Amino acid sequence: MDVISGEGLSLSEITVSYRNGHRPLDRFNLVLPKNSITCIIGPSGCGKSTLLRAVAGLVQPESGEIRLDGAPVRPKDTRIGFVPQNFGLLPWKTVRANIAMAMKLAEKGAQPKSAAEREAEIARWLAAMGIAGLKDRYPLSLSGGQQQRVAIARAFALHPALLLLDEPFSALDAMTRESMQQLLWTSWREHPATALFVTHDVEEAVLLGERILVMPKSREAGTVLMDNPASHLDWEGRRESACFFEQTNLVRKVIRDKW
Ligand code: ADP
Repeated sequence: MDVISGEGLSLSEITVSYRNGHRPLDRFNLVLPKNSITCIIGPSGCGKSTLLRAVAGLVQPESGEIRLDGAPVRPKDTRIGFVPQNFGLLPWKTVRANIAMAMKLAEKGAQPKSAAEREAEIARWLAAMGIAGLKDRYPLSLSGGQQQRVAIARAFALHPALLLLDEPFSALDAMTRESMQQLLWTSWREHPATALFVTHDVEEAVLLGERILVMPKSREAGTVLMDNPASHLDWEGRRESACFFEQTNLVRKVIRDKW
């Protein structure tokens, strides 16, 4: 984050407790520059989804402050595009209507798009995700991987300032996953947003993260925020490069120490 302009994402001293006594975040701090992409990796149950839900304004921290580009994040903040683990699609609306509704909500206060502009944007993202033919289907008639792609198309169609992705490619087969990773990278380069991307996959984190946040099993071990030089390489050849290999080894070493 640019300390002078206040741009970027900052979490200061965030504590989140659930009613059952679990406290996955305890005075958690994180500062990320505007339009950077950070991958979060950590063992199951360490608080990754809680972190994303808190940043999305869906879980109210009991203390601390979350700011995006200088202004506090509010519940249903229209600056945020969120791809939750369960996709968050409304089952009674078609794919097209799911995306159109989210776009209308995000336009609140801004210059509204015409219906034709909105339809063109929806068509463009569905085509990019390889699911143009599904536009009039209902979510429950789609496979998990197809629903996941609808949720990603919806998040991108909002052109959010902050993009939150909770294991967005987990339901995809290996080849689709690789093409989605590339699509995410090129889309994010074309429409930069501050992005937090949760993954279980070390290779995926090194492929996509300018920074990699390793969350530990127990909070006492402390989080580690690593710069990832592999993210500066051209996409073509990144996965095969020596730098990529070194970085995945480095992340695995940190994971061995922390988990
Ligand atoms: P991760 O995404 O890293 O798997 P979560 O953020 O989902 O971790 O969960 C962190 C901890 O908080 C876990 O111990 C989990 O059981 C607990 N937890 C998550 N959501 C809830 C909830 N809604 N109510 C109570 N406990 C929860």
